[in-house]
Amino acid sequence: MDGKGLADEMQIEMIEAVQELKKNGITPGLVVLLVGENPASQTYVKNKEKRAVALGFHSLVKRLPATISEADLLKEIDHYNQDNDFHGILVQLPLPAHIDSEKVLNAIDSTKDVDGFHPVNMGKLLIGKPDMIPCTPYGIMKIFARYQIDLAGKNAVIIGRSNIVGKPMAQLLLMEDATVTIAHSKTANLAELARTADILVVAIGRGHFVTKEFIKPGAVVIDVGMNRDENGKLIGDVASAEVAEIAGYLTPVPKGVGPMTITMLLYQTIKSAETALS
Ligand code: NAP
Repeated sequence: MDGKGLADEMQIEMIEAVQELKKNGITPGLVVLLVGENPASQTYVKNKEKRAVALGFHSLVKRLPATISEADLLKEIDHYNQDNDFHGILVQLPLPAHIDSEKVLNAIDSTKDVDGFHPVNMGKLLIGKPDMIPCTPYGIMKIFARYQIDLAGKNAVIIGRSNIVGKPMAQLLLMEDATVTIAHSKTANLAELARTADILVVAIGRGHFVTKEFIKPGAVVIDVGMNRDENGKLIGDVASAEVAEIAGYLTPVPKGVGPMTITMLLYQTIKSAETALS
């Protein structure tokens, strides 16, 4: 399943949506707050900025020193909450240890929370009335739609229960009438459970953990993992070469889920700008 290809297709649609907004005097604005100099964060932010600029966004990366106090960071967020030029606010994680990340994320205006991590947005998702949706599982739902994967009545197993991937993924699949099981590090007989899955979503963070013993023939397998092997190469959580022989569908790493995550971030910024227009 070609996540990169779908991201490219959506890029074209989104450029049109941005042009339409601009005709109405609104340029979607995204501000990314980057605290400190974590090299991985710098790379992620650079990618987001590049994609935002390519769409014609008003894009700002606000670089802040690692020594910034929590109170000053909260002030920055409050500033962008009030600033109508920005429809999306993103705080790049991880934050330095002296800052309470949860407090900072909760300070973002939930209507500008394009990452979808704010408790208000999580709560809306849980009651089946989503607004901003965590971008990785949202991108996965777009992949299912693109490949016309029928989810109703299917057994879905998600390995991983994080707030940013596993839990919202479960709710999104439930909303499409899948029967959902969430597995984690304490789950017994994991491979056996995974073999019951028509849809298997793997978000663990362990390179090539899921082998062919985990796969029901013909299953749809979504590999969220991003790990580095001993040579520094990006690999997923799924042992892709052997799993591809059994699975019906498989997302590759790279060019699978990853490109769709950034795409959904930008998509939700456009949505937020459209709401500002209405
Ligand atoms: P996380 O917060 O570390 O959660 C990992 C989950 O995997 C936990 O629920 C953990 O169980 C479970 N787990 C760990 N070892 C396990 C095992 N041996 N058997 C079964 N379950 C196990 O990770 P995350 O943020 O969800 O990310 C997961 C992976 O996805 C990482 O590689 C991350 O880099 C990647 N990721 C990719 C994207 C993308 O855009 N492609 C976006 C987000 C994340 P417990 O809860 O019991 O500890």
